[in-house]
Amino acid sequence: MAERLALNSTLKTDNSKLAIGVFGGTFDPVHLGHLRVAREAFAALGLDKLCWIPAAQPPLRDAPVASAAQRADMLALALCDEPGFTLDRRELERGGASYTVDTLQSLRTERPDAALCRLIGQDQFAGFERWHHWREILDLCHLVVLNRPGAPTTPLPGWASSRVCAEEEWRAQPAGRLVFLTVRPQDISATRIRARLAAGEAVAEWLPPAVNTYIHQHHLYGPPGRD
Ligand code: ATP
Repeated sequence: MAERLALNSTLKTDNSKLAIGVFGGTFDPVHLGHLRVAREAFAALGLDKLCWIPAAQPPLRDAPVASAAQRADMLALALCDEPGFTLDRRELERGGASYTVDTLQSLRTERPDAALCRLIGQDQFAGFERWHHWREILDLCHLVVLNRPGAPTTPLPGWASSRVCAEEEWRAQPAGRLVFLTVRPQDISATRIRARLAAGEAVAEWLPPAVNTYIHQHHLYGPPGRD
C-alpha cells in the first residue's frame, strides 16, 4: 500500500484533478486477471480511487450466470483488502440494461470536475462503436485501453487517433482522451473459469482464495446436476 501511495503522490501535480477510475464488467466471476490489470492501471495512472461497477444486465452479451447479489458478494470479497478499490453498486441498483453512458452521467453529476478514466480491455474496445451512445461516453470520461491476450488488433479509426494522448496528458482534462496502457495481463477469462467449473475442474489458481471458497460454498457454475 505504501508503495502505491508513494507512486500516486509522485505522479500528481498540485493543479491536477481528482482522478477516478471506473472498471465496469460482468465479473461473472471476478478473477485474478481483473485484479492484476486493475492494480497496474491504478498505479500507472496515479488514480485516487478505482470504482468497480458490476453490470446488472450487460447489453451486448448473454445474461450473467451468477445473480447480481452473488457477483457483488464476490467482488466485495476480492476488493476488501485492496486500498483504493471500491465496489459501486449503482448499475445493480438501477436495474435493467446497464448502459455505461448512464453510469458515467451519474458519476459526472457527483464529480463535475474530476478526471474520470473508464478502463476497458482491448477485446471490448474493439467493439466500442456498438456501445449505446458511444460518442457521448467520450464526452464524459477518458478511455484507458488495457491490452489483453488474444484480443483483436484493429486499425485505429479516425475519431480515436485524434484523441490518443500520452499517459500523463489526460489528467489536466476531465474527459475525452484515449490512453493505451501497456499492462502485463494474464490469460484468464471468466468464460474459461465457468467452463472449467462446469467440467468439475479446479480453478483456484485463477481466483482470489475467498472468491474460490464462495463459488464452492454456493455451488456456482458447477457441473449440471448440482445447484
Ligand atoms: P467473460 O469471459 O465472461 O466475457 P471477462 O473475463 O472478459 O468475462 P468481464 O467482466 O467481461 O470479464 O471484464 C471486465 C473488463 O475486464 C473488460 O473490459 C475486459 O476486457 C477486462 N478484462 C477481463 N479479463 C482480463 C484480462 N485477463 N486481462 C485484461 N483485461 C481483462
